Formats: sequence, C-alpha cells, structure tokens
Amino acid sequence: MEKTALKIRTYGDPVLRKRAKEVSGLTQEHRNLLSEMAQLMYDSSGIGLAAPQVGVSESLIVVDIGQGLYKLVNPRIVRRQGSQVLEEGCLSVPGVCIKVRRAGKIKVIALDEEGKPFSIEAEGLLSCVFQHEIDHLRGRLIPDHASFLEKLKINNKLERLKQRSQDERMPGSKSQSCKLQL
Ligand code: ZN
Repeated sequence: MEKTALKIRTYGDPVLRKRAKEVSGLTQEHRNLLSEMAQLMYDSSGIGLAAPQVGVSESLIVVDIGQGLYKLVNPRIVRRQGSQVLEEGCLSVPGVCIKVRRAGKIKVIALDEEGKPFSIEAEGLLSCVFQHEIDHLRGRLIPDHASFLEKLKINNKLERLKQRSQDERMPGSKSQSCKLQL
C-alpha cells in the first residue's frame, strides 16, 4: 500500500471491476488506510467509500451518513429483508445518478479495525450505503443496476468517463446532480 495521498478511481479503471481480497491479518497499514479513506470520503462530500475506489483491492469500507463513522473489514451481508429504491450516485461514476432497488433491511457481519467480529443491522439509507459499498468489493457499480432505458441515457457519459480515467480527473466534473454520493 502506498503512502501517497489517495485519489478516487473512476469508471473505466480496472481496479473497480476486480473482486477485493479478504483481509487476513489486520495491520497498522490497514488502520491508516481506513482513516485516510474516511478523510477522503468527507473531503468529497461522500457518505461511503470502498477500498477499490482508491485503487486498493482489499475488503475495507467506510460509511458515515451523518450518524457516526463505520469502518468495516471483510463485511458480508448475512440477512436481507424487504426492498427499497433510492437514487444513488457514486464518487467513482461522477455525474451519473441511478435508481437502485436494494434490500430494505440488512444484517452485516464484519471485523472492526482491531480485528474483532461484530454485526450491524441497518435499514433505509444506511442499509443502502452498506449494500452499495459491499457491491464495490465485488466489482459491481451502479450502472450495472440501471434499467435498459437508463443505460441508453448514461451510455455517452460512461464512455467519456472511460476515456478520461487514464487521464487526470477533470476538475469540471463536479456536476453531480445526485444527492447521494457513495
Ligand atoms: Zn460508489
């Protein structure tokens, strides 16, 4: 893991499509990374961030919907109930907003940053954010949830993002019309 300032990887970067490795043996480096990820999430006005979004293919996520910071290692959803649809944006797919149907209520098991197992039950927005971040660990992105019509609408944007992901991220791409950035 590099020490350099983290940068958000965007659509087209292959790391976003890789399945993240489970963490075995938590180190100080992982704890540092979680803190840096949280900082980057706050700086980007996001409410969740997964390690692949900063180019690290390991099973780590941070979430804060304004009710405190969660740092999860190797998170896994063990129960799903009901459903909900929310319009989601993604820091890695700037400018794109997609209605995503997800489970309403979930139970997540994970390790905390000391390596201790714990579980969380979540519903509503918090549940949605956990599911979005855990999707990232499996290489799944919001365009994968898009309906056929939505796909047609965002296709050009995605193509542009793909071309841009090699270059520097353009500063002008702050046109994030979506309220939720994860
Ligand atoms: Zn995302």
